Amino acid sequence: MPGKKLPPERKMRISFDLDEVLFVSPLNHKTEPPLRFPLNRIYKERLRLGTPKLIHDLQKLDYEVWVYTSSFRTESYIKGLFRHYGVKFDGIINAQRHLAEVQGHRKDSMPQKVPTHYRISLHVDDESVVVTYGKIYGFDVYQLDAQDDDWAEKIIERAKQVREKQELKGALS
Ligand SMILES: [Mg+2]
Repeated sequence: MPGKKLPPERKMRISFDLDEVLFVSPLNHKTEPPLRFPLNRIYKERLRLGTPKLIHDLQKLDYEVWVYTSSFRTESYIKGLFRHYGVKFDGIINAQRHLAEVQGHRKDSMPQKVPTHYRISLHVDDESVVVTYGKIYGFDVYQLDAQDDDWAEKIIERAKQVREKQELKGALS
């Protein structure tokens, strides 16, 4: 319904991995321009072309957009980098947070990512093992790795499908 914003607790959450997904090598991917000096000395990662626009588009479509990375980059580093591209995430999970909140004191070792722990319905990742975990733990994964000119459209489409599936489930339960 256009103009009718959902309350935050109802918004569907989508998360993105960083390495090889939003942070890519300009040698084999199209990338956003680097930040200007001296910021490019602090933030060396290069963003996949279209990243800021896709995140804005998803947020405009009333999704929450999160980062879920297995790296130890700090939240303030991640926030700082993306702020210079005009992007503000709705949540950030790095390795420290995952270890504290998902792994916690559990004896069994948990998968490297459990998006359902954060009510994330769709996660975008380059690793096949995460796709496998998705099947076991019941979350949707969009696998993305190589350069793809249509990645943004495909993810928006996939997000729509996941949301429709959830709405249908909600209507039936
Ligand atoms: Mg990755």
